[in-house]
Amino acid sequence: MTAPTTGPVPWANRLTKLLNQFHAVHGGDRFPVDVEMLIRQTPEQFQTGEPIAIQGQAMDPEFEGALFNLNAGQPDKGNWAIIYNQAISSPGRIRFTLAHELGHYLVHRHLQESFNCSEADMLHWDSTERKMEGEADLFASYLLMPIDDYRKQVTSNTVDLDVLGGCADRYGVSLTAAILKWLEFTPKRAVLVMSRNGVVQWACGSESGKWLSIALNKKLPNGQRRNLSEQSATVLHADANVDRYGTEVDARVWFPSEPAGMTLREMRIVSDQYRQTMTLLILPPEIKPWERDKPDEDDADDNGGLENAFDRILNGQPPVR
Ligand SMILES: [Zn+2]
Repeated sequence: MTAPTTGPVPWANRLTKLLNQFHAVHGGDRFPVDVEMLIRQTPEQFQTGEPIAIQGQAMDPEFEGALFNLNAGQPDKGNWAIIYNQAISSPGRIRFTLAHELGHYLVHRHLQESFNCSEADMLHWDSTERKMEGEADLFASYLLMPIDDYRKQVTSNTVDLDVLGGCADRYGVSLTAAILKWLEFTPKRAVLVMSRNGVVQWACGSESGKWLSIALNKKLPNGQRRNLSEQSATVLHADANVDRYGTEVDARVWFPSEPAGMTLREMRIVSDQYRQTMTLLILPPEIKPWERDKPDEDDADDNGGLENAFDRILNGQPPVR
């Protein structure tokens, strides 16, 4: 067996290029990516000599999918099978799972002969398995939602759950997967918060919102996860299942160290299926403590250049004229 030559992102980019070329010549819908077709063509396209079969089966809800070598333990070349859970009602989740298994095939098949990808197993994974699972997810997200294309879908200044829901439809993925991808590249200060019964399960922030997500993910001294603030729109309007465009809320309701007078936009969708609430928070750009409560406009103008220079130095960039 030969060692893999590239990681998950280069592999996804290679396939993206091929798909772009294919659709430029033959037309047809570029999105959502037809992952099943891609899987069937991959062994020939890359001349791996290791075929892959795909089969759907109705299984336990925790089971997502698996990739395994039917020739395991034999000196022959691999003969692979992908199984996915047909009982999962969301086509977006199935598409993501199939792309994830293709990621294992391309990136990891030289390392292991079977990959069992169930959420329930996550606690038992060792660090190598976690790393491989993360890489397969990364591959799937780059393959299904190329960032160049995604940027073009969110050019308007106002991003809300309607816009991001449109992207989820375009790419044929779950709203959660589409929001997580947007968080990877947006310059906005934004955080996605998943909660159940008013308790934070996890939060994920954009690059400029990462400290906000760290604050929400931090457990309380007693080891418990944080409750949502009673003043948040998610708690106050718990009876309304959807707020796609958002409610303006005092930023300190969620993040006490934000300055007085700042408001954030709070959007949410309650999912009956998983009994989870998804809240998306979008904040204005950060105001550093020393930039707050400027005495008056004239002073601000006088100090603007210096403050900007300080800002750049603190952010690790040399001052530019
Ligand atoms: Zn996996």
